[in-house]
Amino acid sequence: MTRGMVIIGAGECGGRAALALRDLGYEGPVTLVGDEPHLPYERPPLSKEAMASEAPEIKAIASDVLLAEKSIRHIHSVQAVAIDRAAHMVRLSDGSVLPYDKLLLATGSTPRKLPMPGLGSRCVYLRTFADALAIRAHLSAGNRIAIVGGGFIGLELAAAARKLGASVTVIEAQPRILMRGVPAEIAGIIHAAHVAEGVRILCGDGIASVADDGKEVCIALAGGQQIAADLAIIGIGAVPVTGLAAEAGLTIDNGIAVDAQLRSSDPDIFAAGDCCSFPLAVYGGRRVRLEAWRNAQEQGALAARNMLGAGEAHAAVPWFWSDQYGLSLQIAGLSDEGRSVVRRDLGDGAFILFHLAEDGRLVAASGIGPGNAVARDIRLAEMLIGKRAKPAREALGSQAIKLKSLLAA
Ligand code: FAD
Ligand code: NAP
Repeated sequence: MTRGMVIIGAGECGGRAALALRDLGYEGPVTLVGDEPHLPYERPPLSKEAMASEAPEIKAIASDVLLAEKSIRHIHSVQAVAIDRAAHMVRLSDGSVLPYDKLLLATGSTPRKLPMPGLGSRCVYLRTFADALAIRAHLSAGNRIAIVGGGFIGLELAAAARKLGASVTVIEAQPRILMRGVPAEIAGIIHAAHVAEGVRILCGDGIASVADDGKEVCIALAGGQQIAADLAIIGIGAVPVTGLAAEAGLTIDNGIAVDAQLRSSDPDIFAAGDCCSFPLAVYGGRRVRLEAWRNAQEQGALAARNMLGAGEAHAAVPWFWSDQYGLSLQIAGLSDEGRSVVRRDLGDGAFILFHLAEDGRLVAASGIGPGNAVARDIRLAEMLIGKRAKPAREALGSQAIKLKSLLAA
């Protein structure tokens, strides 16, 4: 008897996996379980377009009509609470059970909580559409917004809040913003853009205390500064959602540990997207966990293929982007694998930094510029990284030599 495919987590990855199962011709039952009340939706707009709109709308990945057409059963507002691996059953918070042949865990990640007392209703996090609505309501001219964490959430929200006329202070414990994964030169340009737009950025000072009386938040820094705000938004990273997997006895290693085919320590259970760590072939099998939109899409589709027996190994190169003001940042590969850097200017202030390993292999490319200025060359760099190419430094640095010609070589 066909029990079917069950997917836990109706986000980017789970939604894409469900659609992919049908696109691949699977005809058995497909059930997508999500604890949010919505259709699967895109999160990137939550810190960008949703903040620019007076009435933010969900950008759904699949409509009700499409899910019905594809016979995908979407159970929303319900949590998966236990997996009985021996019986191949998932128990849900409403008491029902779902049998499965193959199970995909696409449970995503959740904001890291600021580990200190004093936080109240004026201290918020951003992960869901509901969070975005709550934050948007506070972004208005004259309101004071404190942002804890100079990472992507913090900076994208700082840009959005300034556009709406709020006064913004970003508090980053590290010596500079975007310390992890973004080269200092590029982070410096983003920092300068924020300062030019009137954002106050405080780096290198930890938080000593937070006092939130429900009307105002006061943040005291270790160095003595006090920041008073109408709202404090905390964006200090995300942690993988692994409780269900851990309870079921699956191996956890910075996320649900999966092999190159996204199979967990139980061969009938896969994990994909923000919640899993996996060996990245392009970097010799280094185990990583990626928190990025395209990765969630690609892994959702790959998990679907492998649930159907394709036996295909993950081979993609990491890539992500961030938009702030008119600037777009794009990074392909893992820049921390690099030992030296070559710069290529693209005009209009746009440039790409190529990160090379000791043996000359291209391991990452970080680009920044107005609008879409770096997109094409970052795409070509990504292909070079995927080919494990060792392009000559002079060629990478010279605008006269097309990156495309290096691919052909
Ligand atoms: P999620 O999208 O988090 O989905 C997981 C879902 O599973 C959630 O709905 C969760 O509630 C549900 N769930 C968890 N446990 C259970 C359970 N036991 N039962 C039922 N349901 C459960 N990436 C980029 O590359 N570029 C960007 O510009 C960008 N912007 C972003 C902006 C914001 C505000 C956020 C939050 C993220 C952004 N990202 C961006 C990251 C990207 O959105 C994520 O990498 C992506 O959403 C991960 O998809 P996922 O399906 O793995 O997890
Ligand atoms: P993030 O990019 O990891 O940035 C968090 C930042 O906060 C880091 O610089 C971190 O420093 C700092 N921090 C940690 N603890 C702190 C403290 N106590 N006080 C002050 N600063 C502190 O994470 P995020 O911005 O919160 O984003 C959360 C998730 O959303 C991630 O999955 C991210 O990928 C996703 N997202 C992505 C994008 C994008 O790709 N464009 C946009 C928005 C959101 P340390 O490095 O020292 O921890």
